[in-house]
Amino acid sequence: MDLMICGMCGAQHDTRAFKSCKICDDPRQYVPPDGQTWTTLREMQRSKKYSNVFAPDKYDSGVISIHTTPQVAIGQRALLLCTEGGNLLWDCLTYLDDVTVQAINELGGIAAIVISHPHYYSTALHWAAAFGCKVYLSAEDCEWIMRRGDAHVLWEEPRMDFLDGQVTAVKVGGHYRAVLREPTIGFCSSPRPLEAFKR
Ligand SMILES: [Zn+2]
Repeated sequence: MDLMICGMCGAQHDTRAFKSCKICDDPRQYVPPDGQTWTTLREMQRSKKYSNVFAPDKYDSGVISIHTTPQVAIGQRALLLCTEGGNLLWDCLTYLDDVTVQAINELGGIAAIVISHPHYYSTALHWAAAFGCKVYLSAEDCEWIMRRGDAHVLWEEPRMDFLDGQVTAVKVGGHYRAVLREPTIGFCSSPRPLEAFKR
């Protein structure tokens, strides 16, 4: 709760002291002109300034978009993919509170969190602890994990099925590092494939 969160990319770091953010120092992100800012999950919760908004997809009620207002970091959004085999959280948000946990539990909880690339690493370990699940990250991106935890699963396969095949994560390459050994991942769900591959 008191570990440092980068205000620009939203990633929680394994430290309570200010330092630079490797993700923001990288050319694919940036450090704000006024310099890097830091917060903690406890500080965000105590501010009572933030809340997470849930919005079902207009074409598929089994896909629920979640984002934080006011905007945190780069305005990440996560997708709760609801299937008969359980729910999968695609990508993750920095802000988490009891209201969010309760709302998601009423939707069936989270069986697994799968994150496409390091700009969504956020506070995923807190989410994993809250829902008792694992966080699946591409093994190729492991150098960008600013806080490691037992809940992390670094997977190497080009694709992986989740929830008895209801959701398939596919490494397609692109946005992050944009080379084959550093792919991002996209998902498709069954029975209706979703063209939500991140690039
Ligand atoms: Zn950062």
